[in-house]
Amino acid sequence: MISVDDSRHDLRADCSQCVGLCCVALAFARSADFAFDKPAGDPCVNLDGDDRCSIHPRLRDSGFAGCTVFDCFGAGQQVTQHTFAGASWRDGAEIRASMFAVFPVMRQLHELLWYLEDALALPAAASLHPALRRARSEVRSVTEAAAVTIGETGLEELRGAAALLLRDAARLARESGPIGAGPRHAARSRLRPGADLVGADLRGADLRGAELRGALLLGADLRDADLSRAELIGADLRGARLDGADLRDAIYLTQVQVNSATGDAATRLPLTLSRPSHWG
Ligand code: SF4
Repeated sequence: MISVDDSRHDLRADCSQCVGLCCVALAFARSADFAFDKPAGDPCVNLDGDDRCSIHPRLRDSGFAGCTVFDCFGAGQQVTQHTFAGASWRDGAEIRASMFAVFPVMRQLHELLWYLEDALALPAAASLHPALRRARSEVRSVTEAAAVTIGETGLEELRGAAALLLRDAARLARESGPIGAGPRHAARSRLRPGADLVGADLRGADLRGAELRGALLLGADLRDADLSRAELIGADLRGARLDGADLRDAIYLTQVQVNSATGDAATRLPLTLSRPSHWG
């Protein structure tokens, strides 16, 4: 099981230390997740003067479900408090442009750090921990750099090198225990990276050790499924049903994925993640 430590306290969003960057810098398209079109750089009309969401308790009922799914992995407070030393996008056009350019990059860097922390918490991947720690240091040094350096970062290069390590770490973890028999009504061969499992009936499936990297699991029925040691990096879990599912040892599961699915009190999550309030 992934252990809880404080090494990723700065990878969790702390909106009190941010200036509402996600509500201003990002673009939203009118959809089931967002009630209107909002261009990047325009403050959302629901953002108040203190950079707080004025409809936060009723986001879902107001047509902003997407806002309850989003997670910046702590990029907002890093950009606000560290990169820009407490400044705000309200302080002028120059700082606004720079902050809005840095924020999406920082979010990707923090997401990468989240995955690296996950890999470092996998006992089965201990042989890779020195290389993973080096990768983490490299990414962290970029997150602590000046805005101009962050903007010039070769993100793809950083991610590419880390991706190989993350994949190897996941393989070691997946293979460190029994591999599940798979779905009851479908061939186990359907369980593969990038698999199209949209709306699939995977209820009660033994998915231990499944390689579901990048799988499309939109609306899939995963109730009571066992996803121990299943690799879920990049898997699309929007609308998936996780009631009673066991995800405690799922590999590379994020808060965004959990937020985008539905579950219940019986869903078992990794200790590093929170049960979404909108699950009821
Ligand atoms: S609705 Fe609230 S949380 Fe969503 S973008 Fe607007 S201010 Fe931010």
